[in-house]
Amino acid sequence: MQKIRGTRDILPSEIQAWQKLYTKALKILTLYDYSEIRTPIIEPTELFLRGIGHTTDIVNKEMYSFVDQGKRNITLRPEGTASIARAFITNKLYQSNQIQRLWYMGPMFRYERPQSGRQRQFHQLGIECIGSASALADVEVIKIAHNILQQLECKKYTIEINSIGNQEEREKYKEALVYYIKGYENDLDIDSKKRLDTNPLRILDSKNVRTQKILQNAPCLNKYLEKESRQHFELVCEYLNILEIPYRINTRLVRGLDYYNYTAFEIIDNNLNNQTICGGGRYDHLIKQLGGPNTPAVGWAIGIERLLLLINQTNNFISKENRFYIVTQGSKAQKKVWHLINLLEQHNIKFHIDLSNQSFQKQIKKANQCNMLSCLILGDAEIEENTITVKWLKEYYQETILYNNIINYIHEKSKIIP
Ligand code: ATP
Ligand code: MG
Repeated sequence: MQKIRGTRDILPSEIQAWQKLYTKALKILTLYDYSEIRTPIIEPTELFLRGIGHTTDIVNKEMYSFVDQGKRNITLRPEGTASIARAFITNKLYQSNQIQRLWYMGPMFRYERPQSGRQRQFHQLGIECIGSASALADVEVIKIAHNILQQLECKKYTIEINSIGNQEEREKYKEALVYYIKGYENDLDIDSKKRLDTNPLRILDSKNVRTQKILQNAPCLNKYLEKESRQHFELVCEYLNILEIPYRINTRLVRGLDYYNYTAFEIIDNNLNNQTICGGGRYDHLIKQLGGPNTPAVGWAIGIERLLLLINQTNNFISKENRFYIVTQGSKAQKKVWHLINLLEQHNIKFHIDLSNQSFQKQIKKANQCNMLSCLILGDAEIEENTITVKWLKEYYQETILYNNIINYIHEKSKIIP
């Protein structure tokens, strides 16, 4: 049996990195008073059509949609924000009249061409700060993304920000952009040509060299921003300056989802062909658009697989935890071993019991193969004398000690042996 194209098994050898990321992120998110929310993986297709927008790549090309046995149109969620906005409305979270600070982590599904850092099932960690129109909220969420990357010892990334203004400003800009680009229509790449009619702002995102060249003299979005949009953006930049969070203003940055306004930002990995690790922005109209009360919000999502690719380049997560391999021989030893296991468990000492019933030599060989620190050996002789033998695998020596001293002995040795 093959796995489905674009999906991956996350194997035990990789899971430590996932858990470490989760733990570090959770610590920061808890400090900032964000609560976890878990929404369903399946949602009505309509949610994403209305939320993300008909002309976006996600909705047009990338959704995993199907009709269920009750003839409902269902989609495996391609992202988290629309679902959370839906949950905010469905559960009337607005009734408390308080800012909702929410975070989520889980699988997302997009039918894309798989390549490094791009899968069909991938995972996102995301946050949403719902209920504030203040630039303070924009910077709170950007700061949290920055903190998480710092805590994970990522160094080589760039925060890019832009203001994409409000709907009206964007419409005016769109007109000017289309007018300019029409002059070069025949030189555009195929995708950009199509976007000219459907979603012209996304042409700014094109990776095509010729299209990029055409764009060099294109009108700039920031010239179309009115006072309010400009002031909001200036505040965001000012707060980031105060925090000494480095960022780059990228006036061509537009996001792939329709629901954003004002602030849009991305965090770019400077190593991995400049892939985006994190994308986010303000979405003040999404909740109303989905049938909820008018509620401003801002948030982001980090692609975990991409983040792990970046982290694994800079450091590794090999755990130095002590691990004791329990070797037994004989029926008496295999009864006494339960006492030993209880002791280790009580003292939080990580262990691994050999289940093979093979010879001492073979069990010890296994321990070496598993990169264990030490073997705790219980055989006939040890049972007879009420002792236990501890064999240190890296140091090539062993000691037989009184069984009752085993925990003290391990604690003492742990201070010396790294
Ligand atoms: P891209 O331009 O790379 O397609 P995007 O703008 O579609 O990214 P978003 O919708 O903003 O991405 O999602 C936020 C983050 O989720 C991305 O920055 C990325 O890290 C991650 N991501 C998005 N799509 C995928 C995918 N197919 N596989 C792995 N990670 C992904
Ligand atoms: Mg994409």
